[in-house]
Amino acid sequence: MKPEQLQGVDSQGRKPRPTALRKTSKMAKSSTQSKGSRNLPPFENERVFPGIDDPKVREAFPRAISQVRTQLGRTYPLYIDGREITTHHTLDSVNPANPSEIIGAVHQAGQAEAEAALSAAERALLSWRDADPVERAQYLVKAADVARRRIFELSAWQVLEEGKQWAQAYNDVAEGIDFLEYYAREMIRLGVPQDMGSYGVESNHYFYQPKGVAVVIAPWNFPFAIGCGMCAAAIVAGDPVVYKPSSQSMVVGHHLVEIFREVGLPEGVFNYVPGPGSVIGDDLVDSPKVSVIAFTGSMGVGLRITERAGRTPKNQASVKHVVCEMGGKNAILLDEEFDEDAAIRDVLYSAFGYQGQKCSACSRLIVHDKVYDRFVPRLVEAAKKLKIGPAEDPGNYMGPVIDQKAQRTILQYVELGAQEGRVLYRSEVPASGYYVPMTIVEGITPDNRLAQEEVFGPLLAIMRAKDFEQALQWANSTRFALTGAIFSKNREHLDRAVRDFRVGNLYLNRSCVGALVKVQPFGGFKMSGGGTKAGGPDYLLHFMDPRCVTEQP
Ligand code: NAP
Repeated sequence: MKPEQLQGVDSQGRKPRPTALRKTSKMAKSSTQSKGSRNLPPFENERVFPGIDDPKVREAFPRAISQVRTQLGRTYPLYIDGREITTHHTLDSVNPANPSEIIGAVHQAGQAEAEAALSAAERALLSWRDADPVERAQYLVKAADVARRRIFELSAWQVLEEGKQWAQAYNDVAEGIDFLEYYAREMIRLGVPQDMGSYGVESNHYFYQPKGVAVVIAPWNFPFAIGCGMCAAAIVAGDPVVYKPSSQSMVVGHHLVEIFREVGLPEGVFNYVPGPGSVIGDDLVDSPKVSVIAFTGSMGVGLRITERAGRTPKNQASVKHVVCEMGGKNAILLDEEFDEDAAIRDVLYSAFGYQGQKCSACSRLIVHDKVYDRFVPRLVEAAKKLKIGPAEDPGNYMGPVIDQKAQRTILQYVELGAQEGRVLYRSEVPASGYYVPMTIVEGITPDNRLAQEEVFGPLLAIMRAKDFEQALQWANSTRFALTGAIFSKNREHLDRAVRDFRVGNLYLNRSCVGALVKVQPFGGFKMSGGGTKAGGPDYLLHFMDPRCVTEQP
C-alpha cells in the first residue's frame, strides 16, 4: 500500500482511498465522518507584498492607516472562556515613532486571570480534544479568510504599533495566513489513523491525540505571524490555548481574539491574557494544568522557561513539552567571487530590514580578504543612501526600534562597537521617537562581544577572513545556529557550506531572512532553539501524543 493511501488526503489535497482499517475500526470511522471537507485545495503560499508601486497597495495602504488612526486609544479587555474580562490595571501600547501616540490601553492579566484562563482551557479540552481534526482544521481555514479580507488593516496596525515598514507588516500577516492554511492541511493529513500492518492475526494502527492545555508566549517582532502560528498549531492539534502576547504588541495580539471570535471557535479554546512576562510568565509556565508551552523569544527567557518547565509539581499529570524558538547571531559569508550587486542589496536588507529586529537578521558579515577592499566601501556607500524615518512613509528604509529599552541597549552596543572595532558608518536619526543609527563596524573578530551577543538592532559587524576556511569556521563560532547565507560562485564552496555551515536555515546566494511556510520550514538549534521548524511537516507533532492500538479479531 502506498503511503498516501495510508494517510488519507495529504497536503497536496489528494483524495483518500478507503483502507481495510477504516472499514473495521471505530476510530477510523469517526475520522471519516467529518463535518467539513477534507479535500482542501493544495496549499499555496499567500502572495507576498506586491510592492509600493502596485496600484492596489498605493490606494489601500494609506487608507488603512488613516482608518486605523481613527481607532487609536481604545481599551482592550482580556478574553477568557468566551468572555471579555477587565482588570484594575491597564498598560498603554505606543507608536515607537511617536511615543505620545497611544495605540491602545490593554487590560493586564495577573495571577488570578492567568489561573482563570488555564482553568477555562482545561475545561475546553474535554470536548475539543475529541473534535474531528477536519472540523478543527475548518476553523483555521475560516480564520485565514478573515485575515485575508483584513490584510491591509491588520498590516496598518503593525506599522503604527511596531514601526514595521509596509512590506514587512504585510508579509507578516501573509505569513500568519500561511500558518493557518498549512497547519489546517497538516492536521487533516495527521488526523487519519495509519495502518501499521498486521502481525499474525493482529491489526495495528497508529494515531495522535492532543497533549492538553497549551500556553503560547510570543515575541513582538512578528506580532501577528508568530503568535498566530503557535496558537493555530496548538488549536488544530486539539490543545486549547492560553495566549500571552508580548507587552510591546498587545493590540496586534488582540487581532487573534477578533479573528477566532468571528469564526466561532468554541469558548475556552482560545484565551487571551496580555500581561508582563515578569508578572504572569512563571504562573503560566509553572502551572500543573499545562502540558505544552510554545515559546518564541530571547535566549534568556527561553532557557528560563525550559528549566522551570522541567520541574514537576506533585499534581502535574504529564511531562511538559517545551517548543522553544530563540535568538540568533547570523552571518552572511562573502566568498572570493560572487554577484556583488545582489550581495549589497541582500546584506543591507538582511541587516537593516525592520531595523535588524528579526531573529534571522544578519549581524555578522564575514568577507573574504581578496574582495574586502573593493566590496566593503561599496556596501557603506549604498547604506548611506537609505532613508530613516517613520515606517508609515514607504520612502523610509528603516524606522524606529520597538521601545526605549531596546534603544538604550542598542546604543550601548554601538559604543561597544567603537571600542572593539572601527565604526565605518553611523547614520543620522530623527530627533524624536525610538530611533537608533544604522551602524556598520569593521575589525571584529570571533572573540569580540559584537561577534557573539545578539544585539537585535541595526548594527552590522564586519569580519575580515583570510580565506574561505577561516570564514566558514568563524561563521560557526557562536552559541547560536539559526540562519546564515553564503554568496559564492564556487560550487565546491557552496557544497561545503551545505554540510559545514551548521545553521537551521541556510541560504545560498540570497539574503538570510524571509523564510516561507511549508517550502522553507523555519527554526534553529543550539542556543537558537529546539530544531522544531515552524511551518514544517513535523511541527504539529509537538502538540500531540502518538498512540498505537493493536486488535485481535
Ligand atoms: P523576550 O523578551 O524573550 O519576550 C518574549 C515573550 O516572553 C514575551 O511575550 C515576554 O513578555 C515573555 N516573557 C518575558 N519574561 C518572561 C518570563 N519570565 N516567563 C515567561 N514569559 C516571559 O523576547 P522579545 O524581545 O519579545 O523578542 C525578541 C527575541 O525573540 C529575540 O531574541 C529574537 O531573536 C527572538 N525571536 C526568535 C524567533 C525564532 O523563530 N527563533 C522569532 C522571533 C523572535 P513581555 O513582553 O511581557 O516581557
